[in-house]
Amino acid sequence: MDGFSHPSRNAPDAPWHIGVTSKSPHSTVTAKLINGRAIADSVLSEVEAAVQSRLANGQRPPGLAVILVGDDPASQTYVGSKRRTCAKLGLHSQAFDLPADASQADLLALVDQCNADASIDGILVQLPLPPHMDTTSVIERIDPRKDVDGFHPYNVGRLAQRIPALRPCTPLGVMRLLGDSGIAVRGKKAVVVGASNIVGRPMALELLLAGATVTVCHRFTTELADEVARADILVVAVGKPGIVDARWIKPGAVVIDVGINRDAAGKLVGDIDTAVAAERAAWITPVPGGVGPMTVAMLMHNTLQAAELAAGR
Ligand code: NAD
Repeated sequence: MDGFSHPSRNAPDAPWHIGVTSKSPHSTVTAKLINGRAIADSVLSEVEAAVQSRLANGQRPPGLAVILVGDDPASQTYVGSKRRTCAKLGLHSQAFDLPADASQADLLALVDQCNADASIDGILVQLPLPPHMDTTSVIERIDPRKDVDGFHPYNVGRLAQRIPALRPCTPLGVMRLLGDSGIAVRGKKAVVVGASNIVGRPMALELLLAGATVTVCHRFTTELADEVARADILVVAVGKPGIVDARWIKPGAVVIDVGINRDAAGKLVGDIDTAVAAERAAWITPVPGGVGPMTVAMLMHNTLQAAELAAGR
């Protein structure tokens, strides 16, 4: 599964296509919504079929260890969703919950235990870790062959050198959204706003690998509006609603909103005003229902991939 070989399943006339409504009575909605839920479902169906085929061949199910430290409610929600999805697809999921005051040594010992366990193909340590822990050394302790989040320097380095192995889930999910929507990347100008290790940087590497000319913007970028206005493909991953003014968007651009925020009313919103952006963009991801569902789906995809690699395929 390379994320690009599937015909478009993203019917622009899906019922929720009308979910973006313009606030202006005079404007017309033009953007097609990229249906992240439907594309994530197709990834999950592929993984489920591959798991069934492994079982039919007498192989063990792919195994994922999900490690949670502490009781952060958002992390508990994400971990719960990952564990439930494993169960649904027939993956073997092992839950490890450490208390918030667990030591770094406790966590490293658990990672070592999972590294040595042949029934575990993937290890996910839910981030953020409590402040007394050093995230970098924990990620570096994970066997790169089990690094299903794709955050280990070995895997990031392979992506940078155009020989990707396990790839960060959210950027990989974005590439799958583009591929399944029939959106060409090669030769396009892509702008990524946000340069974190888990989203922005690997996103830029993915787009570069796919042949785009890539600009990366971050907190020190001075002319954000000018950079955004050049983008044929715009990916925003900052975590600040309205950081990109939708009126900057180039008409006909593809807009991928990775941001997840809560507005004053507690509603989930992205980093861009979807309704205004939809008046300019050709394609846009909604929040929720765009990039979000892809992250868990690509985690399952990566766990299967790690299991296949472990089996020598
Ligand atoms: P982060 O805080 O680690 O990184 C934010 C990035 O934004 C940094 O590189 C910073 O330089 C940049 N930034 C800050 N202010 C800026 C400004 N004024 N102009 C330009 N760039 C600026 O965040 P992250 O972990 O990369 O997550 C970003 C967002 O994506 C968050 O809302 C997060 O919840 C969301 N997210 C969504 C998914 C998903 O599955 N949809 C997955 C991961 C993260």
